[in-house]
Amino acid sequence: MQVPQFLQTGLTAHGFSTRLGGVSQGEFAGLNLGLYNGDEEQAVQENRRQFLSCFSCQPSSAVSPQQVHQTEISVVTQADGGKGVLSAETALKNVDGLITNEKNIGLLLCFADCTPLFFWDPVEKVIALAHAGWKGTAAAIGAKTVTKMQRLYHSQPENILAAIGPSIGPCHYEVDHTVAEQFRRSFAFSDDVLTAKNNGKYWLDLWQANRQQLLSCGLTAEHITVSDYCTACYQELFYSYRASGGKTGRMAAFMMITP
Ligand SMILES: [Zn+2]
Repeated sequence: MQVPQFLQTGLTAHGFSTRLGGVSQGEFAGLNLGLYNGDEEQAVQENRRQFLSCFSCQPSSAVSPQQVHQTEISVVTQADGGKGVLSAETALKNVDGLITNEKNIGLLLCFADCTPLFFWDPVEKVIALAHAGWKGTAAAIGAKTVTKMQRLYHSQPENILAAIGPSIGPCHYEVDHTVAEQFRRSFAFSDDVLTAKNNGKYWLDLWQANRQQLLSCGLTAEHITVSDYCTACYQELFYSYRASGGKTGRMAAFMMITP
């Protein structure tokens, strides 16, 4: 899946995978791109090679960290090529966001319900990816990514194009009081993203929470693309951690600046 706005500005090497294709079996059946979820390593390696080949990217030219639902955002360069792509041992640890302004280094992050955030500044030529589940969203990883793009590369927020990718939607994402409370404490807009249910729990809208966060950073509404694909609604198309009960594969978000 791709972002039309990115394609229009020439960022052709980017996308979000589905579970279609690939060689994984059982609960992981399809194109599982997650190295940390119990699937056979060889299957994931083959799946990652297949997915990267869609972008003419060799595994040695991509980087994929071990994600932990926090907000560490690493700047990577071509020197990081290959880290964490075919084996966990070489992965950057405890990293949930990647930024680069270099060509030919592919960014790869994995998801199964959490929200993928894509960033592309076509003026300063900077790309970034972030992993925003409820913890990352509440801890403002999207806003932190924008701030880092501004500080390191002089990106102007009004120039940044962003996309909020397929993830668990407000139709399926039930959270408890503790999570709701964190959003209330963190965001003035929390009433817009939490809907009380009659069982004492809430529906949480991570798409809107991230969109509002990016708007408050100065991104313009017309520069933010929101996918309305819920990973729990479309289980034939996506892996869903919630809908599967926990043992399942991962999709991946990919971005690379090409010459
Ligand atoms: Zn849904």
